[in-house]
Amino acid sequence: MSSSIIQPNKYIEGLKGPLFVAGPCSAETEEQVMATARAISQIKSVKVYRAGVWKPRTRPNAFEGNGEQALKWLQQVKPATGLLTAVEVANAEHLELCLKYNVDIVWIGARTTVNPFSVQEIADGLKGVDIPVFIKNPINPDLKLWIGAIERISKAGIHKIAAIHRGFQAYENSVYRYSPMWDIPIELMAAIPDLPVICDPSHITGKRSMVAETAQKAMNLGMHGLMIESHLSPDDAWSDAAQQITPQTLAELLKNIKIRTQSTDDLAVNDELKHLRTIIDSIDEELLGVIAKRMKAIEKIGNYKRQHNVAIFQPDRLAEILKTRKQFGDNLQLDSDFIEKLLLELHSESIRYQTEIVYKPTLE
Ligand code: PEP
Ligand code: MN
Repeated sequence: MSSSIIQPNKYIEGLKGPLFVAGPCSAETEEQVMATARAISQIKSVKVYRAGVWKPRTRPNAFEGNGEQALKWLQQVKPATGLLTAVEVANAEHLELCLKYNVDIVWIGARTTVNPFSVQEIADGLKGVDIPVFIKNPINPDLKLWIGAIERISKAGIHKIAAIHRGFQAYENSVYRYSPMWDIPIELMAAIPDLPVICDPSHITGKRSMVAETAQKAMNLGMHGLMIESHLSPDDAWSDAAQQITPQTLAELLKNIKIRTQSTDDLAVNDELKHLRTIIDSIDEELLGVIAKRMKAIEKIGNYKRQHNVAIFQPDRLAEILKTRKQFGDNLQLDSDFIEKLLLELHSESIRYQTEIVYKPTLE
């Protein structure tokens, strides 16, 4: 799939750096759609205007979008401002209407990506159509489901594809509305290197005070753009009021944002990076050597347990390992969640090794 992806600068006129998409959560009224678009079009780095037309709401009495009527308003945006338009579609009927009203880009929302039936329905409607499709991550942290949705759209013949990282539902209390779980979009970028990944810091944070710093984090990681919700009077927005920022704040944010390049032509910088990487290479070699040594010790203890008929899994021992290692880690200023994850991985490999290798059942 990777090599067939067409990059946004090939289909968005004048796009040089990252792709910035902005606009209100919802298209509320014709005046709001047009006035917001005019204000946003003053920010030259924003090329695409977003607005929700069908809104997936948690409870039935909330504003659910203006539907087809809003598409008529949005149709006036490009001639009036030069901005392309982007709208969320959740089913084939939405897609058909977007095509009827010449929406430039459609995106699949987080609540739709979770459902392969809905994604396939949209993919079927896309056959023979040439329109860019952006795919938000599923609301649950499931990379395979995200990739699956991207594959369905790609198989429908769509080459103008991008992913949108909008955070994931998590049970723990957090400062975020949806946890960013950065390692998931990073894994996606590693799995499909040509895929542009755009961050949506508005839905991740759920609050306007954190949008700028989260947008900067995404840029620091090398993501390829941002989708930011912007409203002329955020507190009065009909949906997602707390996370929207004014076009003025948006202009400020984009003016201050630092964009990193994926690579540089500066020879001195490349030399220093190369040098720092050789240090990491040799540390990794050492680290793997130490892990191999640990596995040898595991083999010994596994055999010993077998000879003496002692159970492989020892809950008290695991608790002790986690406790002491977190202390070692603390002393070395290592993040305690990271140490816990690392030790749980090592422990689980040790259990697997003892169960499957040392205790390999023989067919007698
Ligand atoms: C939105 O972009 O307004 C939206 C509903 O997004 P998500 O699908 O990420 O919740
Ligand atoms: Mn929203």
